[in-house]
Amino acid sequence: MSDTMASQRFRTDDFSPGANHVVSRLQENGFDAYVVGGAVRDLLLGGKPKDFDVATNATPEQIQRCFRSARAVGRRFQIVHVRYGREIIEVTTFRRDHTDDQADSAGRSSQSGRLLRDNVYGSLEEDAQRRDLTINALYYDTSTHNLIDQLGGQADVAAGIIRIIGDPAERYREDPVRMLRVLRFAARLGFTIATATETAIAHHNHLLRDIPPARLFDEWLKLFMNGFSAPTCQLLRKHDLLIHLMGDVMDTAQANEHSTQLQNMAMTNTDQRVADDRPVTPAFLLAALLWPATETRAALLAEQGESAIQAMHQAGQQIVLEASQQMAIPKRFSLAMRDIWDLQPRLERRQPKKIKDLLAHRWFRAAFDLRLLREQTSHLGDGCSSFWTAQQEKYPDLVGSARGRQEDRGRRRQRPRRRQRNA
Ligand code: ATP
Ligand code: MG
Repeated sequence: MSDTMASQRFRTDDFSPGANHVVSRLQENGFDAYVVGGAVRDLLLGGKPKDFDVATNATPEQIQRCFRSARAVGRRFQIVHVRYGREIIEVTTFRRDHTDDQADSAGRSSQSGRLLRDNVYGSLEEDAQRRDLTINALYYDTSTHNLIDQLGGQADVAAGIIRIIGDPAERYREDPVRMLRVLRFAARLGFTIATATETAIAHHNHLLRDIPPARLFDEWLKLFMNGFSAPTCQLLRKHDLLIHLMGDVMDTAQANEHSTQLQNMAMTNTDQRVADDRPVTPAFLLAALLWPATETRAALLAEQGESAIQAMHQAGQQIVLEASQQMAIPKRFSLAMRDIWDLQPRLERRQPKKIKDLLAHRWFRAAFDLRLLREQTSHLGDGCSSFWTAQQEKYPDLVGSARGRQEDRGRRRQRPRRRQRNA
């Protein structure tokens, strides 16, 4: 493979002060150092990188000797975080793919070929080979302004192509999360996926089932909270990865046109909020994506004789539990999701005595937004959301004003006060 030293020049201030500092300090100490990955890709595309990663031939110990503010982190790899002002630069040592090197004990793989540790150091050439995509394997020397492109990343950026480095099947077996990364970048950048990179997904999508639930949730956040959830989800559905990511609870929606429509509207709204720099919460989007499953389950429980409120409550509990088998939803989000669902039958009731309490609930707005989506997609024509719109206009200061979690589930019940002893 030819080592193309292209003369692509970015300006020094295209890079953050921290990135420039880390690269020059490492070089002053005799090491090679480059800005690598997403930042170079985004600069080529004319964008503004959100963070900077640096790759170097210095070992983590040597990196730490160069910077007082350096801290080693990372489970799968040893990464060094260097703090510069308020910035954190992620510095990694060049590594190589070691699956062909059975004798090496620092790199291990599971029986399916999945990499469990990836800490074998190597050269820049080897480091480029073990990265995921050609467009992510570009190295930029901020002092000489040389761009090193060994794998045709620049051409792929120019042509808008997402291409796995090496044999896609093998790379997906090593790390199935790469399939999600392929779709995420394709959706976010609006790129097309190279044929072999795309076709291999069909044979390997089931491998996501082996990924630890916590890592899958981290990936979920990157896939759904980055402003491109709608196009990303479309690709996930197309490649049958949605169910492998979020579990069988996502199955319910696929059969029903209204459900898919509700999910799509929730994602489009969330993407718009991200574009407008308005706050978004994973809890709302998760509540909307899992609503079809929860609604179906609640209907089933109601048929078995539970009250509407109890049925919804139990359904929420069950769906969260089932979803968590695949993807670990942190408790602070799953509790909020359940509140959002619990509020649905309560909003519907419109009980005069409960109006103020419900308006004040910290998840009222999210619950109301879900109710709106339900009305828009299922043609529920009972005027419930107009009722609550009117209430919000009547008591604007109350909406979401209760910070604590004042809803029932026994949480409101206070512990019996200790009786004062008469000494
Ligand atoms: P973003 O803009 O989303 O941060 P990024 O390309 O910087 O995009 P990161 O997840 O920050 O993505 O990863 C940094 C770099 O590490 C990538 O550019 C890629 O070269 C490499 N990388 C990340 N995850 C993997 C993986 N699973 N397999 C191989 N290489 C990876
Ligand atoms: Mg990055």
